[in-house]
Amino acid sequence: MITINDNYLKLQSSYLFAGISQRVQTFQKEHPERELVWMGIGDVTRPLPDACITAFHKAVDEMADARTFRGYGPSEGYDFLRDAIAQHDFQARGADISADEIFVSDGAKCDTANIQEIFAQDIRLAIPDPVYPVYLDTNVMAGRTGPQQDGRYQGVTYLDSTPANGYVPALPTEPVDLIYLCFPNNPTGATATREQLKAWVDWARENKALILFDAAYEAYIRDEHLPHSIYEIPGAQEVAIEFRSYSKTAGFTGVRCAYAVVPKACTAWTAAGKPVAVRDLWSRRHNTKFNGVSYPVQRAAAAVYGADGQRQVRALTDYYLANAACARTALQEMGFKCTGGDNSPYIWVQIKGDSWAFFDRLLQKAGVVCTPGAGFGRCGEGHIRMSAFNSLENTQEAMRRIAATL
Ligand code: PLP
Repeated sequence: MITINDNYLKLQSSYLFAGISQRVQTFQKEHPERELVWMGIGDVTRPLPDACITAFHKAVDEMADARTFRGYGPSEGYDFLRDAIAQHDFQARGADISADEIFVSDGAKCDTANIQEIFAQDIRLAIPDPVYPVYLDTNVMAGRTGPQQDGRYQGVTYLDSTPANGYVPALPTEPVDLIYLCFPNNPTGATATREQLKAWVDWARENKALILFDAAYEAYIRDEHLPHSIYEIPGAQEVAIEFRSYSKTAGFTGVRCAYAVVPKACTAWTAAGKPVAVRDLWSRRHNTKFNGVSYPVQRAAAAVYGADGQRQVRALTDYYLANAACARTALQEMGFKCTGGDNSPYIWVQIKGDSWAFFDRLLQKAGVVCTPGAGFGRCGEGHIRMSAFNSLENTQEAMRRIAATL
């Protein structure tokens, strides 16, 4: 008899976005004439920057010629991309990261999902609430949690992100080993200051813990005082892994390219207390289970770092940030308290009452689709997430409709 990994049965039955799409489908069946404005799902809508397209085409042409054709590439990524990443994303900001600490992948989703494999089964987890669901679900699948009770998995330390702490959670008061952090945050749009990140790094160093720092939205930071990378904090190399993605930076959600940074100094321990370089384990895993991102995609990603690419990526993220500013201003004028939308494409809106009920109201009365905060965790209740990944016209239309109906 083939038996299953019954940890999968602990998972909530429907993923948040499946729940949303089911409600929307039901509504559209009943009201086929209503045109909806999607302010919910976190996918981009603008085309790739020209510089990426040009590099992509050129690389495809290289694949058509036997002299320039490439088969399997290095699993960790081509040097041309790893060098550009190390130089532009880290060294230029004073973070001492080298190319051999970069692991190119097909997505920050896979990386943040897979990284837990290299740690022991009995490590203690600290996971923010609300949260990008991947961190939690992959640890549930791996059997690191108990069953769910009252909307929370047993055995997990939840890091509450609330209006009271400005959605930047306090340090744990109980021992934990693996800490997930994400700034600029999905879903709250909150950012962490240098001092706040330093407190986490210092805590991790004192407690031999490890921080998994998801910086998928780094390209939206405009406040020059905010750190872009956790490695801007002294000592972070020893206790942090960082995840980046070209998805929201350069519109690569359908192209797929991202990377993880695992510094050589980053250390974990055997059960007997012997130090082990996390980088070597991740390299072993990556090489065993992954055969690299396709050559044309890596060329397209590397084009982000050229002068044209930099300008175009800036224009792309500026476009979404202008939508975010438009939505945030309109929602604030309607009396809602909002976080994010300035250094983040997400606006986290405080609402009164149940977030699924508010979702239904927005859908039925205004024809606007948002994301109910409860889908991101217990602390998400009383909030909705609005995303800026739409056109300016649609964002304005959504705000008009909400103002007219609420
Ligand atoms: N991390 C966060 C916080 C995200 O919000 C997302 C996508 O929505 C990802 C990672 C996934 O990025 P990728 O498209 O690179 O898999």
